[in-house]
Amino acid sequence: MGSIEPKRPFEKVIIVGAGPAGLLLALLLSQHDIPSLVLESWDRLDERLRATQYGVPATKIFRRAGILDDIREQSIASFPSICWRRVSDHERLTGIDLSVVKDHPDRMTILPLNQIIQIMYKHCLEKANGLVEVKFNHKVVGTGQDDRSAWVDVEVGAEGEAKEKKRFTADYVIGCDGATSTVRKSLFGREWPGQTFDFRLMVQNVWYDGFEKHGWDGGNYMVDPDFWGLIAKRGKGGLWRVTYGDGAIGLSDEEYLERRNNAFKKLLPGHPDPGEYQITQTDQFRIHNRCVEKMRVGRIILAADAAHVCNPFGGYGCMTAVLDVGALADCLIGLYEGKADESILDLYADIRREKFLKYVDARSMKNMNRIMHTDPNTVLETDKFLQLLKDLEGNEEATRAFLLVSSVTRSPSCPRQKQDPLD
Ligand SMILES: Cc1cc2nc3c(=O)[nH]c(=O)nc-3n(C[C@H](O)[C@H](O)[C@H](O)COP(=O)(O)OP(=O)(O)OC[C@H]3O[C@@H](n4cnc5c(N)ncnc54)[C@H](O)[C@@H]3O)c2cc1C
Repeated sequence: MGSIEPKRPFEKVIIVGAGPAGLLLALLLSQHDIPSLVLESWDRLDERLRATQYGVPATKIFRRAGILDDIREQSIASFPSICWRRVSDHERLTGIDLSVVKDHPDRMTILPLNQIIQIMYKHCLEKANGLVEVKFNHKVVGTGQDDRSAWVDVEVGAEGEAKEKKRFTADYVIGCDGATSTVRKSLFGREWPGQTFDFRLMVQNVWYDGFEKHGWDGGNYMVDPDFWGLIAKRGKGGLWRVTYGDGAIGLSDEEYLERRNNAFKKLLPGHPDPGEYQITQTDQFRIHNRCVEKMRVGRIILAADAAHVCNPFGGYGCMTAVLDVGALADCLIGLYEGKADESILDLYADIRREKFLKYVDARSMKNMNRIMHTDPNTVLETDKFLQLLKDLEGNEEATRAFLLVSSVTRSPSCPRQKQDPLD
């Protein structure tokens, strides 16, 4: 006689958005036989220049999802170091030697986000036992729910084509649709608490042999009230990512681009002219630090950038996205397997929101203020975090402990650490 399948508390979830949060959540759920439908508004996966580094806690969840080996294969081995430099003379103020954890299995993950998303998508297609369905050109325009189900209203069709309207229903709808989330707006309207910054963030992939010639490597935070940013080696083969903030307000995209040569001359080693480097891709962003009041309303749940966003300095956004969906997957799996009741979803929502506000929001602001709102000539004396790094210089054991437990790569949800060196 065949065994009878237990009746499950729910059957299926709809995930809105095939970004890192949506695809990773689908993968983690599939490992416990929970089917999901992922709806993506674009006709393709996102290719913009965004995240490149993800701290130790994210590395552990990538491993759990079965994608870490593929990521490491495409990645540079590790950053040799991260340092802070004064822009006026490019003097290295202090830094941290990452080579001390270069062989540690949990070390920071480094790979441009577009490549990580491709790996996640491939695993959804090939390793999820048919439990993940991803539909492109499916733009969610509204949500609804009753006692027994939740649904999304969708416009189906490629850009510029006539759209077909459809409704998809499931037990839960998870909004992983990023900072401009329609799911969030359907719950709370357009306003959400927090701030949007005046500057324009300019992000570009750059080939320039001057980095190597001048002995630059790894990540370089550039400290200056006018020309601040992060310059870091990316991927294999000498490609670099140059990110800086332009404080001019209200210019067009073209006008911001026209100002770029001047910024590059100040920021890059050797102060090069345009003909000396090659820019292969550019994206511009408005940056925000914001968080919703609630991450769950009944059967509709928010995760990652749809629920909270932060500036990119310190590499917290995607890492937090990964931690959100790792936690949400655990809660949904517990519910599905009868080990928890629905109140566990409130715990997810409350705890992840609290972690964002207490750690991620606060630290990302400190990281950004350190490079844009301090005096580069005195920051080493006034900034506690840089002093801490200065004290770690040359102490391999303490550096390793710092990097694996308590540094900028530390889990914002790590309960073990009582004393926070960044506070
Ligand atoms: C310049 C820059 C650098 C960054 N660097 C780092 C870093 O180094 N480390 C780090 O951890 N984080 C970094 N971040 C942050 C990181 O990129 C984000 O936190 C992360 O992408 C959030 O993932 P997500 O899945 O929540 O949202 P997204 O990546 O925005 O994905 C959302 C998906 O939903 C889709 N979607 C949107 N609306 C709809 C709709 N109505 N219907 C259907 N689909 C929809 C979108 O097309 C998209 O595919 C950086 C961000 C920027 C801008």
